[in-house]
Order: sequence, then structure tokens, then C-alpha cells
Amino acid sequence: MRRQLLFLPGPVNVAPAVLEAAGRPMINHRSEAFGELLARITAALRPAFGTSRDVLLLGSSGTGAMESVVANLFSSGERLLSCAVGAFGERFAAIAKAHGCVVESLVTPLGAALDPHALAARLEDDRGRQIAGVLLTHNETSTGVACDMAALAPVLRGHGAISLVDSISGLGASEFRMDEWRYDAVVTASQKGFAAPPGVAMVALSDRAWKRTEDERSQRFYFDLQRAREFARKGQTPWTPPLSILFALDVALQRYHDEGMEATFARHARFAEIVRNGLERMGFMLLSQPGAHSPTVVAAYPPAGVEANRLLKSLREQHGIVLAGGQGVLPGKIVRFGTMGDVTEGDIRGALDAIALELQLTSGAA
Ligand SMILES: *Cc1c(COP(=O)(O)O)cnc(C)c1O
Repeated sequence: MRRQLLFLPGPVNVAPAVLEAAGRPMINHRSEAFGELLARITAALRPAFGTSRDVLLLGSSGTGAMESVVANLFSSGERLLSCAVGAFGERFAAIAKAHGCVVESLVTPLGAALDPHALAARLEDDRGRQIAGVLLTHNETSTGVACDMAALAPVLRGHGAISLVDSISGLGASEFRMDEWRYDAVVTASQKGFAAPPGVAMVALSDRAWKRTEDERSQRFYFDLQRAREFARKGQTPWTPPLSILFALDVALQRYHDEGMEATFARHARFAEIVRNGLERMGFMLLSQPGAHSPTVVAAYPPAGVEANRLLKSLREQHGIVLAGGQGVLPGKIVRFGTMGDVTEGDIRGALDAIALELQLTSGAA
């Protein structure tokens, strides 16, 4: 197969050493060697979450972890406030509805981040404390928007609802301080900022969230987090884990800490800025508003006369460069350029050059 460079907001380009690790022979998942692997991975993940508590690994994509926190923390009939700022936030709300929760939406304009004042106003109105939980998206991959989780944290603490954070495309690539900001449930996955293959999701809970998991009414089995924690403390997972992905993730996390968290955050921020500047110079219009730009994905409308999906097709077919299209209300309208994964600044600039070339060909100016 022709080599492709992925600039998707997941899955991302995975370094050869990480891919090779996935080819290792299987081991017994009830062995000491597995316990050591699990311990290494969770120790490497804790600082990225900003937590000193248990980080649990689930054999699923990120959506499984989103469902796990809803299922373990809430039961049918409880009221949740969805603070969606795009398609992934809507997914979180849909999961809660599927579990019988009553979901109310706080509406944010397209391309904007969640406004702490708007959230504060809604939560202040909830004098009877009807809202049991708040669904948040740290980094909204469908619109290229990052929310200011440090600024939102005190608003949530003031109300006391349980906060659930989808940081699937944020964690690892940007700062998150779960314990300090006192978020209750945080989820992420292997195939985004940590630059590993897809197949493992991660979850961390606060002490008061763990308390809620004791409620017997919640519906769960495969994603029973109490059971996952019980096994994790014995160096195991309740069910057969995706061993190959864990081998790869182990190496990806070693590389992650070799680079350093601060350096990794800075790299994503710098790449995203290069992409935003490059696209704007070519006449693209950013979807994210100033101050709300994501470091991991840039979403932009192409210049007038350029069809997003045709551009994506020629980049893929002529250059082996894979960008993402629009999601939710935006299919065919935008392109999304991901900055995560094993890519260099040269790769990013090369992709921008390929876009420039394709635009010239489209406009007939070449
Ligand atoms: C990628 C992503 C997800 C989960 O996607 P999966 O395909 O289930 O891994 C959820 N939320 C956000 C913000 C994402 O970027």
C-alpha cells in the first residue's frame, strides 16, 4: 500500500518503534509481566491526567470510556446538563439519553468555546440542585475548539454537580490538572495525543465520583469501573485486554515522557499555529473563534469555489496526505487538520504546500 501521512484528529501517525511493539508475542494477562506492563502504563498516564488516583484502562475506543462514566455515575431519570460545543459533545449527550438520563443542553454558538459565565448563570439558576451532572468536552474535535478547563473548574465546584470531561483529543497534547481543578470523571483514548494505535481508553475518577459508583441502580457490566479498579489493583484487567495495543502504548508513553509533557504541549500548540496561519494565508476561514483554538485540530472552511471533499480527495490521491472532513452539521463544508501523532514540522509544512498546490490547480492559476 502507498504510504500515507495522517493528519486526522485520530487515529494518528504512529512511530515505527511503537508499531513494532504491537507485533510482540502475546503474554498471559494473568501474569506478573502483565502486572508490570499495566503499572508502567498507568504510572505514565497519571501525570498527563494530573491525578494521583487510579487510572483505569478499558479495551475500547474513547466512546466506550464516555459510556462507562455515564453508566457508572448516573442512573435513569437523573438530570444532566450537556455543555456540547460540537458533535462529540452531542455524542456525550446521546449516551446519557440512551442511559435514561434527562439531558438539558446549554447552547454555545458554533466555533465558540463553552463560556464560563454562561455556565455559571445556568448553574446559579439551579437552586434546587436538580442538575446531578455536567457533560463537558475539553477539546471539541469536530470544530477545532478547546475549552478553558481551568476557568470552568471553579464554576462547577461552586454548584457541586458531578463533572464529566471528554478529554479524548485534549489529554496528553495539552495541560490537564484533574486533581487540582477537581474534575470528577475524565476520559481519554490511546489514538490521539499519546500517538498509539486505537483500542485502549482511559478513565480516572475523583473520590466523590467513586462514591457514586456504589449506587446499585446504575446499569453496567463490561464497563463496571469498580470491577476494573479491583482488578487494576491486582495488576490485571477484568476481561482479556488488547495486549498488542498495550505493548504499543507502553512504548508510545516512554517516547512521550522522553520528549517531556511541556515540550509535547508546546509542539502541538506550535504545529496548530503553523496550520492556522498557513490555511488563513491561503484564504481558508477558521471555524474556531479567536481564543478558542484547539492545539490538536484546526477546522477551516476552504476559500470560495473550493469544494472541501474534492480537495481532501486530491490530497489523498495525489499526495498521500489524509485530512479529515466535516462532522455533525458540517459534512462537506470544512476540512480538519490534526496536529497529533508522529509528524514533524516538515511534514506539516509539506501538507500545507500540497494544499497550496491543489488550490492553484483548482483555480486554474498554475
Ligand atoms: C476521537 C474522539 C472521541 C472518541 O472517538 P472514538 O472513535 O470512540 O475513539 C470522543 N470525543 C472526542 C473529543 C474525540 O476527539
